Amino acid sequence: MKSLTELTFDNRFARLGDAFSTEVLPEPIAEPRLVVASSAAMALLDLDPAEADSEVFAQLFSGHKLWDAAEPRAMVYSGHQFGGYNPRLGDGRGLLLGEVVNDAGQHWDLHLKGAGQTPYSRMGDGRAVLRSSIREFLASEHLHALGIPTSRALCVTGSSTPVWREKQESAAMLLRLAPSHVRFGHFEYFYYTQQHEQLRQLGEHVLTCHFPDCLEQPEPYLALFRQVVERNAELIAHWQAYGFCHGVMNSDNMSILGITFDYGPYAFLDDFDAKHICNHSDDTGRYSFSNQVPIAQWNLAALGQALTPLVEVEALRATLGLFLPLYQAHYLDLMRKRLGLLSADDDDEALVQRLLQLLQSSAVDYSLFFRELGDSAPAQAVARLRDDFTDLAGFDAWAADYLARSAREGDDQAQRRTRMHAANPRYILRNYLAQQVIEAAEQGDYGPVRELHQVLSRPFDEQPGFERYAQRPPEWGKHLEISCSS
Ligand code: AMP
Ligand code: MG
Repeated sequence: MKSLTELTFDNRFARLGDAFSTEVLPEPIAEPRLVVASSAAMALLDLDPAEADSEVFAQLFSGHKLWDAAEPRAMVYSGHQFGGYNPRLGDGRGLLLGEVVNDAGQHWDLHLKGAGQTPYSRMGDGRAVLRSSIREFLASEHLHALGIPTSRALCVTGSSTPVWREKQESAAMLLRLAPSHVRFGHFEYFYYTQQHEQLRQLGEHVLTCHFPDCLEQPEPYLALFRQVVERNAELIAHWQAYGFCHGVMNSDNMSILGITFDYGPYAFLDDFDAKHICNHSDDTGRYSFSNQVPIAQWNLAALGQALTPLVEVEALRATLGLFLPLYQAHYLDLMRKRLGLLSADDDDEALVQRLLQLLQSSAVDYSLFFRELGDSAPAQAVARLRDDFTDLAGFDAWAADYLARSAREGDDQAQRRTRMHAANPRYILRNYLAQQVIEAAEQGDYGPVRELHQVLSRPFDEQPGFERYAQRPPEWGKHLEISCSS
């Protein structure tokens, strides 16, 4: 276990130089206070969890103090936003403080979000509000606990610094951890500005630091693209299987590592709705729940385009073609697990699709359906769940096929329950839960956000005394409009 002063830095991205990032110091926020910290994320840096309570912790993660070995820099990138190319984005309010090497030799980027203005701030104030910082914190640690690849969050620091959004709010900072903060948009920036030498340098950096096995392939850049395609197929399969809607799948929010990245107005589905749009400003539904699959492919095509100076276009095209079948295979695997099916059958895809249509037409709670399906033996479970459906004939037909399918698995209910509960969370980060703890935190009460974080970091476990967090949303909490201002 280490103290904060004992961290070791090795700032590989900073060493790429000024074509890739600009040195900027964090601008502190006033009267910093720790809102919430993740001991699991602290463990990634070998940090003693007790360090979170030290005064220096809040100072380091609010811009008041800096390690001597940190080299804070704003990264430059561009990207496609809602389908249109934006030639210059970059870290407008976040800084890469440096890369910490843990005892296992892994590098973790320390990225301070809300750290003030940078050369990439455009019209923005460089700040992040408490509300959005808490939302990113909770989601990062919860998705990780669900087994969904994601960036991590170390802590949120609140302050008395005022920030103007639709109304006056207060500034906060989020400390984000990820093995890399390189986005698809980094590659697009060097491609569209025709800096092909820097494009190659960026590619080499990513290969060396994050995809070293690709260096042994005959065409390392093609192998890299293939891995990014594979990882995204797996990532999006998890989002779709667990009902996670990202909301802003711009190519600057897509990580080269294939992890969930840059949380905005995201949502987990309450009632199943394939057409759900969680981003209030997404008028056309470009980033609706079911569109996440084709949009991920679209973003991969944008990345592929940016790699054309390094790889033959036909090879990129063929590799891109792997996305959909890989996605489909991962998705079906996950859905079989959610349904408690051990073996694979040709009809499974239809079984899943029919279920989704029934969930949709009867507006059934997506997460609880699967959890309750595992609670009791298949026949009792479907008999109990039947009450939630309006199309009873449709449900009975599905249930008969599901029961026949389940009977073939041949394990006993105790085993089935354990298996299904390990795939189907009891606790999900629903928007109304986040909303409640945010309102308390805005009043200075951090108890609720800390408690919710604890509950959501063990989403598959029954947690006696915390059942209220597992309930269906109240009517007011079902269709909350989450502002995309952050
Ligand atoms: P996001 O929607 O958070 O992914 O941000 C898109 C772009 O806008 C990125 O380049 C951000 O750095 C920048 N940005 C967002 N909010 C602010 C802000 N308050 N101040 C400066 N830049 C911002
Ligand atoms: Mg972003």
